[in-house]
Parts: sequence; structure tokens; C-alpha cells
Amino acid sequence: MVDETSASVNPARYVAGLARAAQRAGACLHDHTRVEKIEAESHNGARKFRLRTSRGTTTAREVILASGAYTTEATPALRRKIIPIGSYIIATEVLPAELARELSPRNRMIYDSKHFLYYYRLSPDNRMLFGGRAAFFPETEKTVRQSAEILPRGMITVYPQLRDTKVEYVWGGTLDFTLDVMPHAGKIDDMYFAAGFAGHGVAAATWFGTKLAGLVCGETDSLPFTGIPFPAAPIGLRSGHTWALPLAGLWYRILDFFT
Ligand SMILES: Cc1cc2nc3c(=O)[nH]c(=O)nc-3n(C[C@H](O)[C@H](O)[C@H](O)COP(=O)(O)OP(=O)(O)OC[C@H]3O[C@@H](n4cnc5c(N)ncnc54)[C@H](O)[C@@H]3O)c2cc1C
Repeated sequence: MVDETSASVNPARYVAGLARAAQRAGACLHDHTRVEKIEAESHNGARKFRLRTSRGTTTAREVILASGAYTTEATPALRRKIIPIGSYIIATEVLPAELARELSPRNRMIYDSKHFLYYYRLSPDNRMLFGGRAAFFPETEKTVRQSAEILPRGMITVYPQLRDTKVEYVWGGTLDFTLDVMPHAGKIDDMYFAAGFAGHGVAAATWFGTKLAGLVCGETDSLPFTGIPFPAAPIGLRSGHTWALPLAGLWYRILDFFT
């Protein structure tokens, strides 16, 4: 199936561009600052949040939780709803132009239809970027190292021509799945949140962010997601307690085998 309107971005440049746009609009950004505790308090009848961070304490009238798969114990109610799943990518050496054209003649963004899927594309400098759920666990040095061994094998099943091609980079990140594999948004413990992008958040998280910012600024609720129940993740799949993830991985491999 071909989606003629699909396109690609460099996500690191995109997020840097979003940060610059926010700063131009007057936002103050504090990177490398971990929120460690959030407490609601009341001042002369008005509710406020006190946020203890790794670099000091601040107060806020409204809070948006946009912490995705990396949600911590600072917001336990949201954390227990997130299933963190690792996703990994390898990048090959720069390919000869002719080989690159043979692999992806129209330079499309490609993915397959499995649960344990592969997704791949050429980079602007003609490397093959090949990604997938090499390990279900969130990324660590170990799972990234394992992915450097697992993903080339997957890549060669799709493109045997790349058997002797060197892999020069590997990296990974963690995706925020939910039990119903749907994004959710609204309020939790009186704070706005959007989560559950399950590996599709580059465009979606930005859209949800715009909507939540509108709600904070007093716009009427135009988010069709706020009324949808947000189920908790089963114990064993939750952040910090992901011992059952290999079982989930096995289940999806079985589904892939039969479909
Ligand atoms: C390998 C890989 C490939 C992907 N491919 C695609 C793709 O092709 N298309 C697509 O649409 N999406 C893709 N995604 C998913 C996409 O990256 C995410 O959906 C998107 O980044 C979600 O954005 P977000 O802002 O909600 O959360 P994130 O980008 O996960 O950001 C959450 C941030 O919150 C911070 N945070 C968490 N807790 C705290 C705290 N207590 N204090 C301070 N900060 C905190 C974290 O440090 C992090 O920076 C991919 C992801 C990976 C890992």
C-alpha cells in the first residue's frame, strides 16, 4: 500500500526547531532539569502546583505532563498507565547511489505490517536506516548493543544486497504504549497530559501539545480524546516493573507467525 502524502523529517532537527519557536514566543526552557516531585497546594483559594526539580523548586498554575515513555515516579498516576517498549535503529555506511536507488527507487518511508515490525528509509546521504523492536525492553547500553546484532539480520532478510554492508551507527529509545494501543489525553491529578503515541508521536505529540496549550489558555475543550477511559497497564508491563515484556514480545511473535 502506498501513501503518496507520506514524508520524512529529521526528528532531532525538528525538536530543536520546536524549542527555538517556543523560545521566540517567550517560553523559558530548562533542559537537564528533572522534576522529582509535584504537590498541589492552595493559595487564598487558588490551586497551584509546587514542583521540586533537580535544580530547585518552582510553582505553576497549570502543568502539562508530556513525559511519554520516560514518565517517572514524580507522576505515579500517569506512570502506571504507560507500557514502555524499546525501539532501535541501525544506520549503514553511505551506500553507492546506484545501490540506494535499487533499494528504494522512490526514496519512500517504508514499514511492514507485522506486530514486531521493521521500518526503514534512506537518509539524505544514502545510508540505509533500518529500525525495529529488536528487544522489547526500554533502551539501555545492553539492549542497544543487542540491537546492533539483531537488526542487521532483519535488514539482510529484506535486502540481501546489504549482506556485506557495514553498520556504522545504532541507537534506541523508548515508546509509550498503552493497554488499548491508543493515545490518551485529558487531565490526571488535575494536570493536563497526552501520552500513548506508541511510536507515532512525531506529528501526533505536536498536535496534542497545541491542543493542550489551547486548553491551558482557556479555549473550550476540542480534544476528542478527553472522554475516553484510560486503562492502567497490567503489573509486569508498567514502567519500572517490565518483567512480563518478553511474554508480550513472544505473544506478538506468535501472532506474526500466524498472520
Ligand atoms: C527508534 C525510534 C523510532 C521512532 N520512529 C518514529 C517514527 O517513524 N514516526 C513517529 O511519528 N514517531 C516515531 N518514534 C516515536 C516518537 O519519537 C515519539 O512518539 C515522540 O518522541 C513522543 O514525543 P513526546 O514529546 O510525547 O515524548 P518524548 O519525545 O519521549 O519526550 C518525553 C520527555 O520527557 C522527559 N521527562 C520525563 N520525565 C521527566 C521528569 N520527571 N522531569 C523532566 N523531564 C522528564 C524525558 O526526558 C523526555 O525528554 C520513534 C521512537 C523511537 C525511539
